[in-house]
Amino acid sequence: MTEIHFQIVKSAGFVAALCLAVVLQRWRPHEALGGSWRTNAGLWAVNVAVLGLVCGGCACAVSIWADREGLGLLNQVSFPLWALIAISVLGLDLVSYFWHRANHRVPLLWRFHQAHHSDSQYTVTTALRFHPGELLLALPVRLFAVVMLGVPVVGIIVFEVVFAFANFWEHGNIGLPSSLEHALGYVIITPALHRRHHSVQARLLDSNYGTIFSLWDRLLGSFGDSRSTVSVETGLPGLPSSLGTMAVLALPARGRFRGE
Ligand SMILES: [Zn+2]
Repeated sequence: MTEIHFQIVKSAGFVAALCLAVVLQRWRPHEALGGSWRTNAGLWAVNVAVLGLVCGGCACAVSIWADREGLGLLNQVSFPLWALIAISVLGLDLVSYFWHRANHRVPLLWRFHQAHHSDSQYTVTTALRFHPGELLLALPVRLFAVVMLGVPVVGIIVFEVVFAFANFWEHGNIGLPSSLEHALGYVIITPALHRRHHSVQARLLDSNYGTIFSLWDRLLGSFGDSRSTVSVETGLPGLPSSLGTMAVLALPARGRFRGE
């Protein structure tokens, strides 16, 4: 697997995940929202350029290097491939959980992460709304996790694709039948669970940090149940309901916005 193949599979997964979430959002909308797609697409374009420049497929290169040097947990054992992939996805999702939680706890990290929470129109494109500073700070954390766990390249690819599906799905303005939502919530983060995480109210904001599995929130005491029947006001207090791409990029310099 070359880095070009890695990028092609990752990009195809990204497009498929976006399309599926958009279809679900159109089919079963939670509420009438216009979305902030212009601002969010602008941030996505900035992030593709910045991350592409700094780390075009570097997770793949780091994984190959760790394998060659015999570094990391999974490079010490001889498990079947399916087990290596399952452990990789679970392990990287757990690292993502802790990193997300740190983004809410550490004031400097929140300055960047609040860009993601500043969207008052909680729709699929909110999944694209990240400050490049947050993604750059997350990069060494994820690369370190890849080395320490000894994640194989196929494990990174499966994780990236599953993560993209989870990210677009849970940011969808999607309303689900209550019984289905309740059952899914035992395993994965649903749109209603993550919508609660985007609440303008700080006491709801600090819950449901997971991206793929709800297991980590349940085990580590941060799970807060929610359903599509609940209406949640999203965004941050003290900010206008609509911000342009440049205004979102400037947020870290403007201070910290969050309710009490
Ligand atoms: Zn958050």
